[in-house]
Amino acid sequence: MAELWSDAMLSFRTPRPRIGHAAADSENAMAQVVAEESRGAPDASTIGALRGALRGPLLETGDAGFEEACSIWNGMIARRPALVARVSGAADVVACVNFARENGLPLSIRGGGHNIAGTALCDGGLMIDMTLRRGVHVDPGRGIVRAEAGAIWGDVDHESQPLGLVVPSGIVSKTGVAGFTMGGGFGWTSRKCRYAADNLLSVDIVTADGERRRASESENPDLFWALRGGGGNFGAVTSFEFRAHPHGPQALCGMVVYPMAQAREVAHQFRRVTAAAPDELCCLLILRIAPPAPFLPTELHGTPIAAIAACWTGDPAAGRDAMQALKSFGRPAADTITVKPYIAHQTMLDSSQPFGRRYYWKSDFFAETGDRLIDTMVEHAERITSPHSAVLFMHMGGAPARLDPELNAVGFRNAQYVLNVQAAWENPQEDRRHIAWARDYWTATRPLSTGAAYINFMTEDEGDARVRAAYGDRLYARLAAVKAKFDPGNLFHGAQNIPPR
Ligand SMILES: Cc1cc2nc3c(=O)[nH]c(=O)nc-3n(C[C@H](O)[C@H](O)[C@H](O)COP(=O)(O)OP(=O)(O)OC[C@H]3O[C@@H](n4cnc5c(N)ncnc54)[C@H](O)[C@@H]3O)c2cc1C
Repeated sequence: MAELWSDAMLSFRTPRPRIGHAAADSENAMAQVVAEESRGAPDASTIGALRGALRGPLLETGDAGFEEACSIWNGMIARRPALVARVSGAADVVACVNFARENGLPLSIRGGGHNIAGTALCDGGLMIDMTLRRGVHVDPGRGIVRAEAGAIWGDVDHESQPLGLVVPSGIVSKTGVAGFTMGGGFGWTSRKCRYAADNLLSVDIVTADGERRRASESENPDLFWALRGGGGNFGAVTSFEFRAHPHGPQALCGMVVYPMAQAREVAHQFRRVTAAAPDELCCLLILRIAPPAPFLPTELHGTPIAAIAACWTGDPAAGRDAMQALKSFGRPAADTITVKPYIAHQTMLDSSQPFGRRYYWKSDFFAETGDRLIDTMVEHAERITSPHSAVLFMHMGGAPARLDPELNAVGFRNAQYVLNVQAAWENPQEDRRHIAWARDYWTATRPLSTGAAYINFMTEDEGDARVRAAYGDRLYARLAAVKAKFDPGNLFHGAQNIPPR
C-alpha cells in the first residue's frame, strides 16, 4: 500500500536542479541537503495534486484560516510555511510526507503548538497541522488511553478524569500531547506515575519513506525506543496509546503563597520537604510577580511572591500529613491546598501562559537544592523585569529516576530538580531587556547544574551541543543509528535535530 502511495505521489514532484552538498562530511549534512534542495514553493499544478490527494484543507498564505493555523504559543516566532495541510487522518499525513520528501521541501509538524522554539513552524515549506485530530478514547477496563496527534492534555483529562484515570501530563492543560510525550514529558503526577514517554504503549507513525508503521515493544522496538524521548526526529505520529493510572477526579492539591521578602525561607522549606517527600508528593517553587488570579488576595496582585504549588498523587487522606509541612510553614498570604477537582489544579496556571505572548526560556537540571543555588535563584528573581515572567523550580526524581536509564531515550532520568527561567512580555521593543534577565539568571545558576538539558525547554538559539547534552553520548549515538534507519535523508530535521549517523 505504501509503495502504491509512493508511485501515485510521483506527480507531486516539481523538477528542480540538484545542488551539491558541500557539507556532506558534517554531522548536519543531511539537514543541509534538505535545506539546499528547498528552493521556493512547488508550482501550482504540483500543489494542486497534493490538494486533490488530501481530505483535509490545504492552505496557502492569504487563505482564510492560514494565519490562525500558524499562530503558535510563542509570539516571538516569525517563521511561516508556504503550505499548511490541516490533515484529516493518516492517509493525509502519508500524502504530505511524500510530497515534502519528493519536492525537497522543509517539513514541520504542529501538535499543540506549545514548543518554545516554535518548531511547529518551518519557513517556506509544508506544515502538517494535526489540530483537527483531537480525539481521545479511554478504555477504562484496560486502563488505556488513546489520543490523536492533535490532542492537548486538557482533551485527555476531559475524557479520563471523570473515570478517575490520569496519564502523566504537564502543568498547563493546553500543552500538546505529541511534542510533550516525545520529548519525555513530566508534571504533577510524574514522580509517582513516571514520565509521559514511560507510559507510552504504542504509536501509529508515518515514517520518511511514506510508510505507515506501528511502534511498540513488539513492533519496530528500536523506533519505539527512540520515539520515547528522541523528539520529532523519526516521523509523523498520528496517534498515541498510553497506560493510565488511577488518580482523581478529586485530588489534594493547591498552592501556598508568601511575599517575596520570605523567598529564601520558602526555598529552604521547599528543599526540606522535597528531600524527604514520598513519590506521591510533587512540589513546584514559583518566584514571580503575583498575577491578578482569583485565588490570590487582591493586596498581593502585582507584588513579588514566592509560592509552592503542590499535588498529592494518591488517596487525599493519606497526603494530609505531607501537605501539612507546606501549610504550617510561617504565615502564608494565601493557602489554596485542599481536596478539589484535579482538573482545577491542572488548569490553574493556564491563564498565565496565553498564546501569542513573547516568550524566552532558559533551563537546567539540578541534583540538589544547595544554599548557593537558593541564594542565586532568589537574588535574580528579585530583579525580574516583567509581570508576566516567572521562575519555576520543580521537584523531579521519584519513580522515573529508579528505572533503567536506557529503558527509552529520555536522557534526564536521574534529575532531581529542573529550573525553568521563563521570560514573558508583550512589547517587541522590550525583547532585549527580558531576554537578558533570563540569560543572566541562567548564567549565574548554570555552574551548579548537572549540565544536562531538556529538548522540550530549548529555545531557538540552543545548538547541537545542547541537544547532545540532553542525551549524553550513549543515548545520542543510539538515537542517531535509529535515525539513519528510519530517516536517512533527515526529512524530519526541523525540531531539536539528531542527524542520521
Ligand atoms: C506553557 C507551557 C507549559 C509546559 N509545561 C511543561 C511541563 O510541565 N512539563 C514538560 O515536560 N514540558 C512542558 N512544556 C514543554 C512542552 O513539553 C513542549 O513545549 C512540547 O514541545 C509541546 O508539545 P506540542 O505538541 O504542544 O508542541 P508543537 O510546538 O506542536 O510541536 C513541537 C515539536 O514536536 C514534534 N511533533 C509535534 N507533533 C508531532 C507529531 N504528530 N509527530 C511527530 N512529531 C511531532 C515536532 O518536532 C514539533 O516541531 C510546556 C510548554 C509550555 C509552552
